[in-house]
Amino acid sequence: MSQAKASLAHLYRVFTKPEGKDSRLAQIEAQLSDNLADFLSGHIVTEEIPLEQIEQDFSQAQVPEQPQFVSDHAQHLLDTLVSKSVNTYSPRFVGHMTSALPYFHLSLAKLLVGLNQNLVKIETSKAFTPLERQVLGMMHRLVFAGNDGFYQQHLHSATSSLGTFCSGGTLANLNALWVARNNALPPVAGFRGISEDGLIAAMQHHNINQLAVISSARGHYSLAKAMDLLGLGKSQLHKLNCPQQTLDPQQVLQKGQQILQQGGRVMAIVGIAGTTETGHIDPLDELAEVASELNCHFHVDAAWGGATLFSERHAPLLSGIEKADSVTLDAHKQMYVPMGAGMVLFKDPLAGNAVRHHAQYILRQGSKDLGATSVEGSRNGMAMMLYASLHILGRQGYELLIDESLAKARKFAQLIKAHKDFELVTEPVLCLLTYRLCPGHLREKGRVISDKHNHQLDELNRLIQKQQREAGHSFVSRTRLSTESYPEPITVFRVVLANPLTTEQDLQAILAEQSELATKHPLWDRL
Ligand SMILES: *Cc1c(COP(=O)(O)O)cnc(C)c1O
Repeated sequence: MSQAKASLAHLYRVFTKPEGKDSRLAQIEAQLSDNLADFLSGHIVTEEIPLEQIEQDFSQAQVPEQPQFVSDHAQHLLDTLVSKSVNTYSPRFVGHMTSALPYFHLSLAKLLVGLNQNLVKIETSKAFTPLERQVLGMMHRLVFAGNDGFYQQHLHSATSSLGTFCSGGTLANLNALWVARNNALPPVAGFRGISEDGLIAAMQHHNINQLAVISSARGHYSLAKAMDLLGLGKSQLHKLNCPQQTLDPQQVLQKGQQILQQGGRVMAIVGIAGTTETGHIDPLDELAEVASELNCHFHVDAAWGGATLFSERHAPLLSGIEKADSVTLDAHKQMYVPMGAGMVLFKDPLAGNAVRHHAQYILRQGSKDLGATSVEGSRNGMAMMLYASLHILGRQGYELLIDESLAKARKFAQLIKAHKDFELVTEPVLCLLTYRLCPGHLREKGRVISDKHNHQLDELNRLIQKQQREAGHSFVSRTRLSTESYPEPITVFRVVLANPLTTEQDLQAILAEQSELATKHPLWDRL
């Protein structure tokens, strides 16, 4: 390998003149574009490599002194990084919400990086800002179904915000609760609002001793992070137990009333439209009523499940979402957009003004700079990826994807139920389900599985999940859940069937592999 020299000539080439067509980077690029699936399967090693071994390739905590030729570095990346990456495109990688992407994102990503726009302000993103606002409008309409006049008025208005694009559901949830917090503690005599005067002054002037958020035990951990960041404290996030996997509105109301009686205030109720662990949907219609009774903000975390709204057949599962004050959506989950695309939407286009921020050199009063109401500052134009996807697939394309995923999950549930070695633990409401290995004789009619057996089953399911992952043919994830039948948490496999390339054959192969690993395991015969 020849050594590059730190010269102005080298730097100039790096900024302006790509190495020729036969350079390593150009070759890699060509292979990627020709057939992404082949490229990935040719480079990604599927068997599990110990993390410690990979860490050895990344153990040099010193900036390299000498420059390197691009070709050489491209090969280095291929060897150390790409070859040890996780194959999220594999049809048998069904353990997480991350899956294969439509191929066009690869070229669009190049365009996006090439243009290098900064969405924080119009001056660095002239066309991208209107595009992002249009995308937010499209998603707002999908959720809240406003009329033409509404979108004409607010889509590009400097004083309205239909929502905010961000890197994902975590920031979207934070943004929603930020707005809820500021609107819950508005200015009163001698107090300029929490945004200006802070939480301590807010509690004195509003005469409250707690500011609570109510959600379910299935809520995403990003809610707790938001409580921490907003200065409210994680213990003010009341996560109600839900043996049926969804919130009980009556219980939420009681909890809220109890908080009020104790001298506190409920800042928000968070309903979940597709929980991360089981895919269940809270009763949004009824929660909206409870929120209005408690006079608080109603947020719906539809990061994962929101895309269901594309499907005419399944959208009614999310009925009531249109009554939310704010909604979180992740485009990088069931909208098949690359990582780093989330958004929060506000029913009231003026709600976001509660966090509007101005600065002298940008974000001036009356400007349309998107940075005025976002948590993030500099930000790329990921909205373009969603924009392109919405056009290339169309609502009907997304509808097909959603309908297929749900049908596949229901089919998988049938396969599990028909198999003597497995027990379906939670039914698929959307395309997510949980199940576990559990020999048929333990599930005979009228029989209750003892704690001792459940502990053994936990251990077995844990070990088999790990073995399957290490073997590298397929991947399901694992979590611990309590259900109506199992008040004490049990260990389960968790499967998300979002990859359109996953077939029934793949699903059968996953079960066959698990069953084979389990029945060969010494624990199996002791059950
Ligand atoms: C994935 C998810 C989040 C977090 O989103 P990120 O994009 O990972 O930040 C929040 N809530 C729910 C329900 C999710 O599924």
